[in-house]
Amino acid sequence: MAGLNVSLAIAFEALEPDDLIPVSVPLDDAGRKAVMRGAREAYEQGGEEALEKYIRENLGEHADEVLEHIGLSGRHTQDQQALKELVEEATMGGRKALSVEDAETILDWAEEINYPGWRASEKDLAQPSHWRGRPGYPNEPHIHLPGTGKYGGHIPVEPGVKPRIR
Ligand SMILES: [Zn+2]
Repeated sequence: MAGLNVSLAIAFEALEPDDLIPVSVPLDDAGRKAVMRGAREAYEQGGEEALEKYIRENLGEHADEVLEHIGLSGRHTQDQQALKELVEEATMGGRKALSVEDAETILDWAEEINYPGWRASEKDLAQPSHWRGRPGYPNEPHIHLPGTGKYGGHIPVEPGVKPRIR
């Protein structure tokens, strides 16, 4: 990802809003343009870190999708990479729910190594949760580990995991 800074900077002027924001994100044209402007400003002022922060703050539940779309979700330390791989394996790429015990252990670890964008809020773990869920598991509880699984960082968990405040 080391070369991204430069290429992103060069490309930014030429990007269309849909290049930054996947079409799956429900935002109208005006909204896309506004986010595009804000993202460019954030990036010019603070680089990738500020851009990521802007996207997380302004696109909420869709932030992971956007970051993945522009290749900004891949920056991890070795520990973070190891956690990501463990989660991928334990959940078969997000297809299988974690047990309460495994989810708590993974959250302890995510907290300790400051996994980027991890989250396990009340809304995530509520039943019903705010996520549509895997096919056949509507609005199931989940935790967020951006960059893992096939559902944009949503990792399904069995009921009973305790919400955490970051
Ligand atoms: Zn959620």
